[in-house]
Amino acid sequence: MAKGLQVAIDGPASAGKSTVAKLVAKKFNYVYCDTGAMYRTVTLAALNKGIDVADHEAVAALAKEITISFKPGEEEQRVFLDGREVTRDIRLPKVAENVSAVAAIPAVRTEMTNQQRQIAAAGGIVMDGRDIGTTVLPDAPVKIFMVATAHERARRRYVENKAKGIDTVSLEELQKAIELRDKKDSTRKVSPLTQAPDAVRLDTTNLTIDEVVDEISKIIKKTADELA
Ligand code: C5P
Repeated sequence: MAKGLQVAIDGPASAGKSTVAKLVAKKFNYVYCDTGAMYRTVTLAALNKGIDVADHEAVAALAKEITISFKPGEEEQRVFLDGREVTRDIRLPKVAENVSAVAAIPAVRTEMTNQQRQIAAAGGIVMDGRDIGTTVLPDAPVKIFMVATAHERARRRYVENKAKGIDTVSLEELQKAIELRDKKDSTRKVSPLTQAPDAVRLDTTNLTIDEVVDEISKIIKKTADELA
């Protein structure tokens, strides 16, 4: 059997990347890797240790020191920090508030990028994030850039938080937080959130999850046939 492809899915916060990436991975029997969860785990580790996220050297050293691992779960991918499960803790508002600052530290990005390339090296991977198509896997044969309006993204995150029983702020506050994170992610110096020139742009505002999965699946099949 041919080796699986590398599929890069990027886009702003809450555009539906992880939900869709997980389903696509399942469909093709590929590995799924949520790179946002890796930056969140570094952030949580820093907060737990009382390290100021403005202390770049300390955060970068911590990023190298800790072990981040994943296990497939029933509903979602389970995330572990030094062997301890942090799947829920990395979604806490305090992590969301600090993660963009951590993700803007160049040495943290270098470390995460290296780890992500190792995870993706064997192919058969769906990786989602902000800089996968531009920086982590610039040669990935399938690149998707998923977008949706900030209002729709806030609405989705609100519904998701409620369903998971996660404490959530109001819809308006969520939208503001998402817009702020978009701004920080798009304007940072290292690997800002931008669409790779060869990525397919998918606006999911008015699409169902199944429609997005179908669209991406078609692109993967077509690319796999062309490369065969
Ligand atoms: O995808 P998620 O919203 O969980 O990502 C959390 C944060 O991690 C993003 O807002 C961004 O600051 C950072 N991130 C990144 N590069 C990636 C994935 C996430 O900078 N590849």
